[in-house]
Amino acid sequence: MDDESLIAEAARHAGEFALAKPSLTAGTVACALLTAAGNVYTGINIDLACGIGFCAEHAAVAAMLNARETRVAVIVAVNHRGRILPPCGRCRELLAQVDRANRAGCRVLLPPAPVPMAVTAAADPAAPTPPCRAALLGDLLPEPWMEGK
Ligand SMILES: [Zn+2]
Repeated sequence: MDDESLIAEAARHAGEFALAKPSLTAGTVACALLTAAGNVYTGINIDLACGIGFCAEHAAVAAMLNARETRVAVIVAVNHRGRILPPCGRCRELLAQVDRANRAGCRVLLPPAPVPMAVTAAADPAAPTPPCRAALLGDLLPEPWMEGK
């Protein structure tokens, strides 16, 4: 599966909906990951009070672990507007602790490079969307917590 298809798979699952009350939601962010074995797993975030929710990456990793896989080849998260979001620090550490090989073997898809304000103001609305960027997990997490343990 190519990067665009993985992004589209994540976007297909994104869509915010309310839970017990309007301020408690799920699906604002969705994640899709491709494993080294070639399987795709997805997950959505849960945003609850008191910080007891979790990121979409956690849900996708849990689905992967349920299938007894641990090596992630590519991962992406998108919000309900289709914008790619970088993983938070906790999710970077999660991926590293699930399998040490993920630091060197997991490509993380990132949003396109920021566009300077002057360029944004003059932007052609019909211009194509810039491509996403990618980085290895190890480059985004150069000093993982578990290395000192
Ligand atoms: Zn996270």
